[in-house]
Amino acid sequence: MKNISSEIRSYKDEILEDVVRVVRIPSVREAALDGMPFGKGPAKALGYCLNLAKSMGLKVKNVDGYAGHIEYGEGEGLIGILAHCDVVPAGEGWTRPPFGGEVENDRIYGRGTMDDKGPAIAAIYCLKALSDLKIVPKRRIRVIIGASEECGMEDMEYYFAHEEMPDLAFSPDSEYPICNREKGILHIGFECAHDAKQILDFMSGNAANIVPVTAEATINKQDGKAFEDAAAALENDKWKYTVMDGKNGAALRCYGKSAHASVPEDGANAAAGLVKLLAHVYKKDAGALITFISEAIGLDYDGEKMGVACKDEPSGSLTLNLGVMNMDKNQDTAIIDIRYPVTFDGKSIYEKAAKKAALYGVSANLISDSAPLYVKEDSDLIAKLKHAYEIATGEEANLYSTGGGTYARVLKNRGVAFGAGTKPLAYYNIHGADEFLEIDDFMKHCEICLQAIYEIGC
Ligand SMILES: [Zn+2]
Repeated sequence: MKNISSEIRSYKDEILEDVVRVVRIPSVREAALDGMPFGKGPAKALGYCLNLAKSMGLKVKNVDGYAGHIEYGEGEGLIGILAHCDVVPAGEGWTRPPFGGEVENDRIYGRGTMDDKGPAIAAIYCLKALSDLKIVPKRRIRVIIGASEECGMEDMEYYFAHEEMPDLAFSPDSEYPICNREKGILHIGFECAHDAKQILDFMSGNAANIVPVTAEATINKQDGKAFEDAAAALENDKWKYTVMDGKNGAALRCYGKSAHASVPEDGANAAAGLVKLLAHVYKKDAGALITFISEAIGLDYDGEKMGVACKDEPSGSLTLNLGVMNMDKNQDTAIIDIRYPVTFDGKSIYEKAAKKAALYGVSANLISDSAPLYVKEDSDLIAKLKHAYEIATGEEANLYSTGGGTYARVLKNRGVAFGAGTKPLAYYNIHGADEFLEIDDFMKHCEICLQAIYEIGC
């Protein structure tokens, strides 16, 4: 197909102006209001995108405030471009107003510039370009914009329960070239009655998908000395301990290093570190949960001790993270996050873990299982996206895999993450302070995006 990618350049000023305008709408999820399931901000940002498209003469639909779409073309088949208009909170450390959309040194600064408002606006302009060029697509092309990608992707659950699933799709909500493999994500809870008399409480982590950076527990006061000695023996570069007098007993703390659960090897799990210390001193008296965690996880993150380790060629090894652990006088609970390779099945991994836990008198429950995404390299979609990328950039389009969950996951193996960052996501400070979009680089994304829509839809 011919190269139409540079046609998007004539809309550069308008695209950038609209990016600034939509970035100025703080669209962090809030409590639901009537017709606004994620609160005012996300509803306003979604409305902005749909109104913009409407003013271009494109067909739009707001699906009850959860998401909306913009459609171009006629016919049976459906192509989807999946973006989102909600953002994570600004957070600390900004040197510019997070919702200001300030332009400086060929950059636009603001929360959501790259994740994912910029790409959402770009996709809308791609449909306008096709329409202005009077290119008649072979199938309908929909830009689908969600209003809650950052908080559990409820937006797409609702949207696809009410609207048709595209036959082929991509989501410009990650980095180039093409992510065609995403591991499955399993969250498993463990619990048992509290049976360790010497341990008064234990607290660590508040999300399964984060490696906890601290853990604390209270133990009987008279055991403090034994823990001081054990802590000194076990401490190393990655795990540090303190033992102090507390109100109700001796207070133990473990300090590790935080990381995302998809790369637990980058962190040092403080919960696991404190479990190790407790099991070391109390042995079996540490109770069922501590004993189970200590023997079936330990300080590992590969699932070997749990009996669930596995790997495959497309996506690599399983990872396991102990994300949350709590004990009080009544109950002991833990939650783990497992990222499993694309050719494996979450249910059988869960069953193995549950069986292992039962050996210790700990019961397991399956909290969630998000199936892996795997679109084969020789598929029609990948061939077309590769071609579009190569035409627009002159560079080869390599495929990559991730343990993280992108928006493309909701596409049930009919879509992949494609763009929008031509550089690694960390470069743009996505989810951090001073998130920005680099204008030249972003316009390159616009070109690739237009060419990709053209290749798969026209
Ligand atoms: Zn995003």
